Amino acid sequence: MYFSFPGELLMRMLKMLILPLITSSLMSGLSSMESKACCRMGVLTVTYYLWTTFIAVVVGIVLVLIIKPGYGTEMEMNRLGGGPVMTSADALLDLVRNMIPSNLIEATFQQYKTDLIPVLKTQVTTKQPSFLYLMPDEENPKGRTVLLELTPPPDMHYKTIPGSSQQMNVLGIVIFSATMGLLLGKMGERGAPLVNVCQCINECVMKIINAAVWYFPFGIIFLVAGKILDMDDPSTLGRKLGWYTVTVLGGLFIHGLILLPFFYFLLTRKNPFSYIRGLLQAMVIALATSSSSATLPITMKCLLENCHVDRQIARFVLPVGATINMDGTALYEAVAAIFIAQVNEYELDFGQLVTISITATAASIGAAGIPQAGLVTMVIVLTSVGLPPDDITLIVAIDWILDRFRTMINVLGDALAAGIIAHLCRKDFPRDTVVSPYTLLSIL
Ligand code: ASP
Repeated sequence: MYFSFPGELLMRMLKMLILPLITSSLMSGLSSMESKACCRMGVLTVTYYLWTTFIAVVVGIVLVLIIKPGYGTEMEMNRLGGGPVMTSADALLDLVRNMIPSNLIEATFQQYKTDLIPVLKTQVTTKQPSFLYLMPDEENPKGRTVLLELTPPPDMHYKTIPGSSQQMNVLGIVIFSATMGLLLGKMGERGAPLVNVCQCINECVMKIINAAVWYFPFGIIFLVAGKILDMDDPSTLGRKLGWYTVTVLGGLFIHGLILLPFFYFLLTRKNPFSYIRGLLQAMVIALATSSSSATLPITMKCLLENCHVDRQIARFVLPVGATINMDGTALYEAVAAIFIAQVNEYELDFGQLVTISITATAASIGAAGIPQAGLVTMVIVLTSVGLPPDDITLIVAIDWILDRFRTMINVLGDALAAGIIAHLCRKDFPRDTVVSPYTLLSIL
């Protein structure tokens, strides 16, 4: 715990910045946009996000069907009983529910997706085998929050993952701030003071990020080292999990470093790799934190300072992407579901593969940008094709590593999308101006 402390501080710093960054950037960014241009940007963004997520799923499915990591010798891992409670319809309703938070203040610290998906609160720390144990929501023990209730052996020890029980409903905050921004823009003169306040907050947050960046290398070392100290012995993971890991990492590599850059080049005719070079800092933070939401402030900084993407576009495309665009997660969910089918020697027909591709896309949209959220929403994919949802215990030991890499691809996908949308909408958005605090004071 003492060893991980500097890393914990890094996580806290990043999380602290998410709320002021999202609200101030969306409210000030969208207020200066024409509603027609805004609409076009919104439609382009969502279409592009859905398209790339679907492609990621297809890449994962093709790879796992070729490599077949789940076939072969018996897998030496224990399974526990349990039952599914969540369906795709539940997940969809929950996504929509989160778009409209009933209480805005609560949305800033509520348990993410309170009604349905429990946050990974506890994790068994015995070495082998590792079990995923999802606790019922304390506030709502009788609700539908129990996803898998596995009865752990009595000699097991638990540890609470610090801070993981309180997550922000980022999607709800994005929707509210975007609506406020659009309305402020329509109010003209009367809305100007609030817009200026938001611009000032935004500028300050960016300055805090610039200052905090000096601490990051130090925090990252301790964050990762603390995790390694805590990790299971990798030699016990077995051959199948090894091939499963190769399949997921291979898919992420193909999608993130070949297909996405290719789309970027196709749509913008610019060099994708010089653009990606500007994002390295954000990708390292994603690798260290396993959270696209926590990485958001750094992704924003990289896009504005290194990639020179239009502010208005970045302010909209990034927060939306951090909540709904998770190519890495979608790919991983499809691979994991088919891997579990292979381990169970369960033949999937073409219809079931289509079902997996659709539900994996939906499950990734529903996953929060927090560590191991994809593991939780994967139950949707498994139940959609009749696989036992408690079999996620088969892959849980390796999940924390894969989570880091898929988060990197999630962040990369959002950032490349911002570059593409900025290029496609370049005529709609003249470069915006930043109002200094002095201008604001004089207006007030
Ligand atoms: N950790 C991922 C993210 O924050 C989500 C997941 O796949 O678990 O983007």
